[in-house]
Amino acid sequence: MRDVIIIGSGPAGLTAALYAARANLAPLLIEGLESGGQLMLTTMVENFPGYRGGIMGPDLIAEMRAQAERFGTEIINGDVTAVELGSQPFIVRLGTAMQETKALILATGASARLLGLPSERTLMGHGVSTCATCDGYFFRDKPIAVVGGGDSAMEEAIFLTKFASQVTVLHRREQLRASKIMQDKAFANPKITFEWNTELAEVKDVDQGVVTGVVLRNNKTGETTELAVEGLFVAIGHTPNTGLFAGQLDLDANGYIVAADGARTSVRGVFACGDVQDHVYRQAITAAGTGCMAAIDAERYLEAL
Ligand code: NAP
Repeated sequence: MRDVIIIGSGPAGLTAALYAARANLAPLLIEGLESGGQLMLTTMVENFPGYRGGIMGPDLIAEMRAQAERFGTEIINGDVTAVELGSQPFIVRLGTAMQETKALILATGASARLLGLPSERTLMGHGVSTCATCDGYFFRDKPIAVVGGGDSAMEEAIFLTKFASQVTVLHRREQLRASKIMQDKAFANPKITFEWNTELAEVKDVDQGVVTGVVLRNNKTGETTELAVEGLFVAIGHTPNTGLFAGQLDLDANGYIVAADGARTSVRGVFACGDVQDHVYRQAITAAGTGCMAAIDAERYLEAL
C-alpha cells in the first residue's frame, strides 16, 4: 500500500513528486506514454524563473526528475490502464499489475491536438510550435502562420503580431469558430491575414531541419499553393488526458478535471494538478505551482486520516 501515487511526469507531476518525497511520503510516480509531457516537444524555455539564459524543455524535465528522485521518488515507466476511485484504497492498474494507494495525484496533462503530418512532428520545436506564449519571442520580424479558427487560434494570432512581421491564419472553413469579440480583434489587426478553406498539406523543410514554408491546399478548388513562413503555430485545441477518470470524478464540459479549494477533486483523497485541470494558463510554471499545491493537499489529507 502506497501513501501517494502520482500519475504523469510533466512539471506538475514532478513537482508534486518533489514535495511529496520531501514530506517523507515515498511517492510512486508513473510516467505515462508521453514521458515528460509537452515540454519534451519544445526547444528553448525562456520563461521558467531561475534560468535567465533559458533552458531546453527536455533538460528542464531532466532536472526536475533528478530533483524528485534525489529525495526518494520512485519513478516507473508505464501507462496506467485503469484507476478505481470508488472506494479506499484507490487502485491503479498497469495492465495486469496493480498498485493500491491512500492518496492519488492526477497530473496526466493535456495534449495539444496536432494535424498529424509527419513533417509537423519532425519540425516540432524547430519552427513548429503549439504554444505562442512559449515560442512567439523566437519569431521577431519573421512571417509566420497559425492553423485553426477557434478562440485559441485567434488569441495566438493576435499575441504573435507583437513579434512577427506578418501572421497568416489558415482555416479549413470560411467561417471562424472563435467568439465574435475575438474575431473582431483579429479582423481589425493589420498584421493578420486569413486563408480560408485552407488545409495544410506539408510543412517545409524537413531536410533543412527548420521551417521555411507551408504547402497549402484549398479544399474548395483543390489548388495547391506555397506560403513562405519561418514559423507555424498549430492552435486547433487541446485534449485533456482524462479518459481514465470519466464517470469517476467531476469533469467540466470540455473534459478537464474540476479542481477546487486548492487541488482537491470531487473525490476525497484524489488531487489534480497541471494542464489536466487548467485550460487557461497552461504554463510549465503554473503546472509546477499546482503540483506543489496537490502534494501539500495530499500530505494534509494523509495526516488527517
Ligand atoms: P476549438 O474551439 O475546438 O477550435 C478548434 C479550431 O481548430 C476550430 O476552428 C477547428 O476547425 C480547428 N481544427 C480542429 N481540428 C482541426 C484539424 N484537424 N485541421 C484543421 N483545423 C482543425 O478549440 P480552442 O480554440 O482551443 O478553444 C477551446 C475552448 O477554450 C473553447 O471553448 C474556447 O472558447 C475556449 N478558449 C477561450 C479563449 C478566450 O476566451 N480568450 C481562448 C482560448 C480558448 P472548425 O471550426 O472547422 O471545427
